[in-house]
Amino acid sequence: MTQSISLVGGSVVLPDRILPNGIVVCRGRQIQYVGQATSRIPKTSKVVAVRGGYICPGFIDIHIHGGGGSDFMDGDVQAAINVTKAHARHGTTTLFPTTSTGSRKQIEAMLDACIQARDQWQIDHGSRIAGVHLYGPYFAKSKAGCHSVKECRSPTATETKMYLRKGIVRIATCAAELPGAAAFYETASKHDCLVTCGHSNSSWTEMEAAFRAGMRHVDHFWCAMSNVSSVRGRLGVPMQGSMLEYVLDNAEMSTEVIADGMHLSPELLRFAWKFKSPQRLCLVTDCNRALDMAPGRYRFGPRTDGAWFTSDGQVGWAPSGSLASAVTGMDHMVRTMHQKAGVPLVDAVRMATLTPAERTSIDSRVGSLEKGKDADLVVLTQKLKVKQVYIQGERLRS
Ligand SMILES: [Zn+2]
Ligand SMILES: [Zn+2]
Repeated sequence: MTQSISLVGGSVVLPDRILPNGIVVCRGRQIQYVGQATSRIPKTSKVVAVRGGYICPGFIDIHIHGGGGSDFMDGDVQAAINVTKAHARHGTTTLFPTTSTGSRKQIEAMLDACIQARDQWQIDHGSRIAGVHLYGPYFAKSKAGCHSVKECRSPTATETKMYLRKGIVRIATCAAELPGAAAFYETASKHDCLVTCGHSNSSWTEMEAAFRAGMRHVDHFWCAMSNVSSVRGRLGVPMQGSMLEYVLDNAEMSTEVIADGMHLSPELLRFAWKFKSPQRLCLVTDCNRALDMAPGRYRFGPRTDGAWFTSDGQVGWAPSGSLASAVTGMDHMVRTMHQKAGVPLVDAVRMATLTPAERTSIDSRVGSLEKGKDADLVVLTQKLKVKQVYIQGERLRS
C-alpha cells in the first residue's frame, strides 16, 4: 500500500502567501493535498503535528560547491554523496553541483561522479541532484576570486561539447567578454541550460550581446562582477554601464545573492530583493567543503590542488584577505534574508525554492507545495531552524 503522511498544525508557505493552520498530505512520492480541510486527511495516513512551525517546499540550490568536508570537484561519487548528505540537513532537497576552475580531466571526473550519484540516489544520500552547474573554468582572469587563476580559460567548441554531451549540465556560466562566449551561450541554450555570466568584468554592450545569445542570469550579484569603475579601468572613458546596471535594467534577467550575511550586508540583500523582485532573485549558498566542519584550512575545488582558504566557521577567507565563498547552508540564507534583511518570509522562501526551480525549468516537479509535485518538504521551527526534511515523501533521519 502506498504510504501517506499528513503534516498538520503548521503555517504552510505557498509561493505568494502563508496559509495558517494548514495541512499537507503526501501520498507516496507526491503531494496529494495542500489546504485547511481536515476531511482531506486519509484515515490511513500517518499524522505529523508540526506545532506552530512552518511547512515549506524543500530548498533548491543552484550554486553549491561542497559541504561536510567534500567538494564536488573531488571528482568521486562518495564525495558527491557526502555533500548532498550535508546540505539535506540544512533543508536543501534539490541542488546543482557547481564546478570550480579546473583541468578538463577534473571537470569530466566531477560530471561523471555527479551522474553516478544522481542515478544511485536513495533517501539517506540527502539532496537530489537535478543537474550540474558548469561554472568554472570560463572566467575572466581579473575576476577569478578564490578560484585557481591558472585554470581560467576561454571556451572552445571542443571542450564545451565534451561537457554538454554528458547530458547533465543544466546551468552554464561564462564571462561575457571572453572570446567564444557568444558561441558558448548559444550551444548551452540549445542544451536546455540556464545560461549565466559570472566572474566577469563585462560592459553593458557585452551584456547586451550576451543576452542576444541566450544569457539570462548573473552569478552572485556584486561578487566577482563588473561595476562602472571596473569597466572604466578596462575600457576607458566615457564611463559605461556594467553588469550591475544591465541586470537591474533588464526585467527578464535574473540573479542570485549569497545571503549568508558575510558576503553582503542586510541593505544590499534587501536592495536586490526590492529591485529584482522575488521572481528574479535566487538565494544561493555558494557553499564550499567547510560546511559543518571545524574552523581551519581547506581547499576550494579539487582536494588535490584546489586553492587554500581558511574557514572561521562563519565564512571562507582567501589568503589575500578577500572572501572565499560561504560555509553555511540554505536554512541560514533564508533566516538572514528574513530576520536580518527584513524581507517577508514568503519571499525569502520563494527565492530559495520556486524561483530557482523556474529559472532551471524544474518547476513542474519541485519548488512549491502543490498537488502532484514531488513531496519534498522542510519543516522549520518558528525561529526558522530545520526540524524535519522529507524527500519524495520519505523522512530524512537526522
Ligand atoms: Zn564565484
Ligand atoms: Zn561559487
